[in-house]
Amino acid sequence: MNIVLLAPPAAGKGTMSELLEKNYGFIHISTGDLLREALHQENEQAKYLKEIMESGKLVDDSIIMNLVKEKLATSQGHNCIFDGFPRNKNQALALDELLASMSRKIACAIYITVPKEIALKRTVGRRTCPQCKKVYNIYFEVSKPKVENLCDTCQQMLETRTDDTELVFEKRYDTYLKETAPLIDYYQQKGILKEVENQNKEEAFNNIVQILGEL
Ligand code: ADP
Repeated sequence: MNIVLLAPPAAGKGTMSELLEKNYGFIHISTGDLLREALHQENEQAKYLKEIMESGKLVDDSIIMNLVKEKLATSQGHNCIFDGFPRNKNQALALDELLASMSRKIACAIYITVPKEIALKRTVGRRTCPQCKKVYNIYFEVSKPKVENLCDTCQQMLETRTDDTELVFEKRYDTYLKETAPLIDYYQQKGILKEVENQNKEEAFNNIVQILGEL
């Protein structure tokens, strides 16, 4: 079963994916994470990626499709969650084609919603452990690290994503409305769209589990 998580920036796609990965063995394919890994290489492409990501625009479709193809090739028929991908119509068509060539398809597109003010707070308060990738938030009691700025598990200094500023958030949000939101219609017309509100992590996760159970 392959699932697409569709949502505005910082709606909780990553958190829901992690829970599904941990509890149900899905393979988590996050194009944002794959791009952040690619940023560490010191080459021309990394420079281009950094510039685009810090502008809140979308990275070129061909780069994204190559990253997804590589990752899918290692998924060996496992159930996959696509997090933050597809992000425009072109990518959605390319994903359908790619999966069809592997005799696979998308079972469900989950549209995660959250009020914009909360998404903004989640963005600017987000801190990530560079080692285990656990995500914290300094503005929410439940997701603060026990010791300021340190990962509870690895004791590493937490990092802030360079695109997690208010200014870049607004640009990412505009890009989402223009390029990604049309996919809500795309998946609705295919009859595979489900909507889940994510103001409360446990509730949202339970709703997703229920949706998957009914597929
Ligand atoms: P968020 O959903 O919170 O904006 P992501 O980690 O999914 O964060 O994405 C961060 C940035 O990476 C995006 O703003 C965009 O520049 C780039 N990106 C991620 N996924 C894609 C994609 N599928 N297509 C194009 N650009 C992408």
